[in-house]
Amino acid sequence: MVATDAECLQALETQRLGIVAPLDARVGGLFSGPFAGASEDHPPQGGKPSAAERGPENSPPTREHGHARKQGELGSGRMADRTRANASRKSGAPSSPPAAGSRAQPSEGPRTAPHPRADIVIVGAGAAGLMAAVWAGRAVPGRRIVVLDGARKPGAKILIAGGGRCNVTHDHVDASAFAGSSRKAIEKVLRRFDVPQTVAFFEELGVGLEREETGKLFPTTGRARTVLDALLRAARDAGVDILHPRRVESVTTVPRGFVVTGRWGHFDARHLVLATGGTSVPKTGSDGHGYEIARTFRHTITRVFPALVPLTLPKDHFITRLSGLTVDATLEVVSATGKRLSSFTGSTLCTHFGLSGPSVLDISRFYIEAVLDDPRVGLIINWLPKHTPETFENELLDIGHTNVSGHLGRLLPDRLAAALCAFSNVDPKTPGHHLQRDDRKMLARAVTRLLLPITGNRGFGHAEVTAGGIPLTEIRLDTMESRLRPGLYVCGEICDVDGRIGGFNFQWAWASGYTAGVSVGRAEGPRS
Ligand SMILES: Cc1cc2nc3c(=O)[nH]c(=O)nc-3n(C[C@H](O)[C@H](O)[C@H](O)COP(=O)(O)OP(=O)(O)OC[C@H]3O[C@@H](n4cnc5c(N)ncnc54)[C@H](O)[C@@H]3O)c2cc1C
Repeated sequence: MVATDAECLQALETQRLGIVAPLDARVGGLFSGPFAGASEDHPPQGGKPSAAERGPENSPPTREHGHARKQGELGSGRMADRTRANASRKSGAPSSPPAAGSRAQPSEGPRTAPHPRADIVIVGAGAAGLMAAVWAGRAVPGRRIVVLDGARKPGAKILIAGGGRCNVTHDHVDASAFAGSSRKAIEKVLRRFDVPQTVAFFEELGVGLEREETGKLFPTTGRARTVLDALLRAARDAGVDILHPRRVESVTTVPRGFVVTGRWGHFDARHLVLATGGTSVPKTGSDGHGYEIARTFRHTITRVFPALVPLTLPKDHFITRLSGLTVDATLEVVSATGKRLSSFTGSTLCTHFGLSGPSVLDISRFYIEAVLDDPRVGLIINWLPKHTPETFENELLDIGHTNVSGHLGRLLPDRLAAALCAFSNVDPKTPGHHLQRDDRKMLARAVTRLLLPITGNRGFGHAEVTAGGIPLTEIRLDTMESRLRPGLYVCGEICDVDGRIGGFNFQWAWASGYTAGVSVGRAEGPRS
């Protein structure tokens, strides 16, 4: 279709003003097929997050000071920013700087009031942004580094992580625990700041970590707050100012760097770090707007979908009546032709809406992605991971006088055993040697290869992480600098990288945040 002149002009004007299409319009169809209407917290075809989800943009901003010296440079804080905003409004200056995503021409015209300036602006004070802030501050002491976060309370995800205990990392992290971009690329970044370095870093901040049997590392205090407070303190000690709530609406390119804009006003920056996370649990402040900012620099955003997310079943499915029951089970994604695509074994939790627990969360991103590609893909559960249908059938043949429920009850919780018998239409009192061949086969399949009629997932509101984002092919892996816009760095969940449950996602945030922080600091260089 050929656009009319008027449409072209409209498009250019839209681009000039930094207006970009809502994320969901661009990832349209994400929840089509079997996932249509599946998400409880997210409208299937999108719609922008509500104002409530975005956090109270209009609440008074808070400043966590780094060097006191910087306050003068910032002006006198909130009041000064408001005065500037008012001056800008009164003078008729545009509320957004003119050139979106492209270099502004000198003909821009003089500004009536200068924007506050920083050497480095980091957007997002989550795990990755705070890590970048600490290391940028340490790399170039004396430089002015500002972190802007849209949330009233930044670092919310650190606080809710690991059930409030924050699973900081895992004792063994390699790229095989991740998906999204290529594992080779992910490994390169992970190697820049590995697990021993993470442990030493937190130790230095006064946060001891202890290992659980599963390999997960938690703070010895058992409190996520310890981790967040230590990071905020370390950023402050490194001379970084953390300002919030300061949601960034758009970023534009100017000859001297970037202009970062929100409803609160503008910020000039020579270097920029985008650490806005993904779009999971949007009420924490990570509402996906970072993707739109990245798009203004022509970055690709790969298909975005919830990961580490519980899966839903029809309301009347027998599993929903087993709510609260946990077993070790194997979940397997199978193609339309029955080929195994991926599988996870681990603790599986039956809930009133369907299934959750580590094995389900881990498989969710592979299942969702596979279904997006081919709606005929299935998910199979094996309640007895050591068995196949054949071995279990043989076992049933061998139990003789023992009845089915007696045998199953030794292997599985009674409620589950009874439910599986009912599902297979087998009387649980039937002795093994009286079981009809078809009943035996039916029961063996229900126990070891039950096809789950998954109706969807619990959506971004319940997803621990977002799959998709900026592909690592568009990033210089030794620095996390954008290949498309020099001076722009990215780190954390905004990248097309998502890890398994167990501390892997934070390890990605630490490693990529460290790399971006050190590199942006070095690029800025010491104050002359
Ligand atoms: C319930 C839950 C439990 C989890 N538990 C664990 C765990 O135990 N271990 C683990 O490894 N991982 C866990 N994760 C995943 C982990 O929390 C994330 O992968 C990690 O926090 C990502 O860090 P990030 O800094 O990239 O993004 P985020 O932590 O999402 O931080 C992004 C920040 O950017 C801000 N922001 C976003 N857009 C803007 C904007 N336009 N302007 C200004 N600021 C903006 C947000 O307010 C936010 O503070 C959990 C996630 C959830 C939801």
